[in-house]
Amino acid sequence: MKIYIDGKFFGERDAKVSVFDHGLLYGDGVFEGIRAYHGRVFKLQEHIDRLYYSAKAILLTIPMTPAAMMRAVVETCRKNRIRDGYIRLVVTRGVGNLGLNPSNCKKPSVICIAGKIQVYPAETYERGVSIVTVATTRNLVSALNPAIKSLNYLNNILAKIEANNAGAEDGILLNAEGFVAECTVQNIFIVKNIKLFTPPLSAGALYGITRETVIELAEQGGWPVSEPNLTRYDLYCADECFATGTGAEIMPITKIDGRVIGTGKPGKVTRNLMERYHALTKTSGEPI
Ligand code: PMP
Repeated sequence: MKIYIDGKFFGERDAKVSVFDHGLLYGDGVFEGIRAYHGRVFKLQEHIDRLYYSAKAILLTIPMTPAAMMRAVVETCRKNRIRDGYIRLVVTRGVGNLGLNPSNCKKPSVICIAGKIQVYPAETYERGVSIVTVATTRNLVSALNPAIKSLNYLNNILAKIEANNAGAEDGILLNAEGFVAECTVQNIFIVKNIKLFTPPLSAGALYGITRETVIELAEQGGWPVSEPNLTRYDLYCADECFATGTGAEIMPITKIDGRVIGTGKPGKVTRNLMERYHALTKTSGEPI
């Protein structure tokens, strides 16, 4: 595997960052997870835009243009002969000293890793997953806004540990007010009376690119989508529920906190969206 670091490619053994990089010392940096399908990088522009917005929000100036960043991603895929895979793009604050002050970090580092993707077995999509709400609340929007895809993912990791400990496949985080925010690395939707609902970003959700694509697909299909605050009651009484994310795409959720959702099987609307999402991944993206 060839890994891109600051304009050069390194073998796996030599692809290293400094122990003084604030990405490591403080989780000071931003990242993206991107997928390639059939020799094309899916939604690359959208991921690059979000990366630059995340960086802007933490006052990190990425030392290359978005166009050059796109070229670096495509080049990393090419070098690794990736046609279908997962790309991790990371920008760290760079090398500083042991002090917190980011002004001691003179140059952010850009890292791009393109590899194979470990997908869930088809059976998981056919039955849907069983998830639980966790006690760890979502980071406050006013503290560390979850809209920033930062290298500090402990909030999500703690939620994942809780879900694992409960024997569930994933966790749902509620915000401090008790409204649904999202899953540990996915946005969440419900379907009720052929309408779709997903929490607003202000509830503590990431501006998910798959979320946005699903909203577009739903509207094209004639299903209205709205973004009200949702409670656990809304989840429990939904006809259908699913999670969205670049890695797992559209994942049906059939049980929440031990309660069966809808019929207990992936619903009609969810399955239709899954089909149309797959069709989209076959036909669009930045050529590698
Ligand atoms: N929420 C969180 C916390 C995430 O990390 C991700 C994955 N990037 C998502 C939602 C889904 O976002 P996307 O559809 O852009 O992958």
